[in-house]
Amino acid sequence: MNTIIHLIEKENNSIYIKREDLIPFSFGGNKARKAALFFDEIDKGSFDTVVTYGSSSSNHSRVVSNMAFQKGMECHIISPEESSYETYNSKLMKKMRANIISVPVESVSKTISLKMESLQNEGKRPFFIPGGGHGNIGTQAYVDCFQEILKYEEENKIKFDYIFLASGTGTTHAGLVCGNLINDRKMKILGISIARKNPFGRKVIIDSIKEYLESKKLNFDEKYIQDSTVFLDDYIAGGYGKYDEDIVETVNDNIRKYGIPFDLTYTGKAYNGMKKYIKQNDLKNKNILFIHTGGTPLFFDFLNND
Ligand SMILES: *Cc1c(COP(=O)(O)O)cnc(C)c1O
Repeated sequence: MNTIIHLIEKENNSIYIKREDLIPFSFGGNKARKAALFFDEIDKGSFDTVVTYGSSSSNHSRVVSNMAFQKGMECHIISPEESSYETYNSKLMKKMRANIISVPVESVSKTISLKMESLQNEGKRPFFIPGGGHGNIGTQAYVDCFQEILKYEEENKIKFDYIFLASGTGTTHAGLVCGNLINDRKMKILGISIARKNPFGRKVIIDSIKEYLESKKLNFDEKYIQDSTVFLDDYIAGGYGKYDEDIVETVNDNIRKYGIPFDLTYTGKAYNGMKKYIKQNDLKNKNILFIHTGGTPLFFDFLNND
């Protein structure tokens, strides 16, 4: 699956989009790419149950519950009760017969351990997938994605100068940076934070990068890693799930002009941040790739609340 489209020529820049939202399982997105690798791991063992973490609007929990159902596995989702309002993602989790366990956010990690323990006591074989598909497996998924980007460059005789993406829990961003380092490609990869502030947000990404490189026994200069990891927290519009008029306009614009659904929490926020960054930094004559990380059900939540 390597759907990159040339979207527009704008103010001398060429904007391309990698349509991860078109990954053909459960409305796709980066969580579908990551989950496919987690389930490869699950298939190697003798697991019969999946436990994960995510809110009611989580794209990750939707995809995981769907893959679990497909494989005939039980699925338990620990969910913070602070964000448990109904969404299309939560409806889909119910459709997949996932068991949603809502607890206060501070009890999440304890509830996960207790659930794993009680399932084991019942004789089940549970596999835990970290929230958002975090960890080296999630990072690997986006090292693979970077390889697809290089393949596209080669086939189409172009070079991307910039990659922009919505950066959240960080392994999508970390995987792309690792791909850039491993291939010595030196593209500018700019993660637009959808919630976290610096320095914490960036540190999580750098930790993921180092953890992945260590697991592969690869060594890179500390400064090279630091310089390659750009996490922009200027466009978060007040925090997770929050948005402003510009973001709404970007989502409306992109469905009207290009027929591509974005959402207010991730892709719309990041695309809007990218547009502002391009203007503020006066980028010209660049080939720019935006990673559409998915979240199509959130587009329909947007329509419902519009
Ligand atoms: C989870 C998610 C992100 C962020 O990905 P991370 O790997 O957590 O940084 C971006 N876009 C969408 C649509 C997502 O669901």
